[in-house]
Amino acid sequence: MTALVYLEQTDGAVDEPSLQAATMASSLGGGAEVHAVVAADTAALAPAGQLPVDAVQVAVHEAFGSYAPLAVAEAVVELAGRLGATCVVGPGTERGNEVLAHVAALLDLPLAANCVAVAVADARVTRVRWGGSLLEEARVDAPTLLLTVQPHAVAAEPGAGDPPSVETFTPTLSDAALALRVVERVGAATGGVSLADARVVVSGGRGAGSEEGFAPIEELAELLEAAVGCSRAVTMAGWRPHTDQVGQTGTKIAPEIYIACGISGATQHMAGCKGAKRILAINADREAPILQSADYAVIGDLHEVVPAISAAIRAARSG
Ligand SMILES: Cc1cc2nc3c(=O)[nH]c(=O)nc-3n(C[C@H](O)[C@H](O)[C@H](O)COP(=O)(O)OP(=O)(O)OC[C@H]3O[C@@H](n4cnc5c(N)ncnc54)[C@H](O)[C@@H]3O)c2cc1C
Repeated sequence: MTALVYLEQTDGAVDEPSLQAATMASSLGGGAEVHAVVAADTAALAPAGQLPVDAVQVAVHEAFGSYAPLAVAEAVVELAGRLGATCVVGPGTERGNEVLAHVAALLDLPLAANCVAVAVADARVTRVRWGGSLLEEARVDAPTLLLTVQPHAVAAEPGAGDPPSVETFTPTLSDAALALRVVERVGAATGGVSLADARVVVSGGRGAGSEEGFAPIEELAELLEAAVGCSRAVTMAGWRPHTDQVGQTGTKIAPEIYIACGISGATQHMAGCKGAKRILAINADREAPILQSADYAVIGDLHEVVPAISAAIRAARSG
């Protein structure tokens, strides 16, 4: 059996989730030969040093100077076909999942994303669903097992013995694949406090009512030196950028306190803030689901409650 693992790297250093994916691929058993593939715009970016794989193939193409998910997938599919790989593994990062989803679409096969355990002999996987609230056991019915590895499901191991052999190849890429790539990066306007690292996060949901409705939330955040977050209902409405979104498809946060204003507490939102040590919910509805997870709650209109909290903080500081 041959397994192929797709590795993401930054400046020639393989990223941690990819090392974890390679470690899982190397533990598949059955005498599996494990090949790794990286995409780079120059052969000089071949990963150096120990890796838990037998061989590394560097797909070299100028398109890989920026993120080009379909092009990477085409390179992975080409190599998997040449190697006769019966298992293709990737990291369960946003990009790893995207690339493997393209691989699955190109091969017309199912993808088991975010796996924490794999028994390759009978194609059984255990994978994370519902933003981490459910572990699903599934059997994958496919000639080639495609999966991504949930970050931190296994500890990365460097690999024993000699470093793997390294070869390069030039993949054949379609015009459509070359059209899909990152052409510009715009830095996030975070206002100084990073959402992922903030000790306090003040978040607004649909209950804020509008873009302008975030003014009291921003004011409270400034007083508390907090980051401003929001729910997906807010980013979908265009009131805040996606970089502010907390949740399963946003940022995962772990502040000392999370102040959720006008947020109902959908599973996908809670997946992003369950690391918070304390949750204060401000909600007009005493039946809102978030109250089941909240340590403190204020039932009321956030447009009255939030300015009142800010005023109380100011009064306490000046007195
Ligand atoms: C695949 C998938 C991924 C998703 N990923 C995410 C994600 O990453 N993050 C995320 O947040 N969501 C995510 N969602 C969406 C999620 O299911 C919810 O739809 C979303 O979280 C709801 O946002 P909300 O709580 O702001 O809005 P609502 O559910 O509409 O809740 C609004 C709340 O505001 C309260 N309210 C209204 N007016 C006031 C007021 N004046 N004062 C006080 N309270 C008031 C209401 O009582 C209500 O509880 C995802 C969904 C899917 C299907």
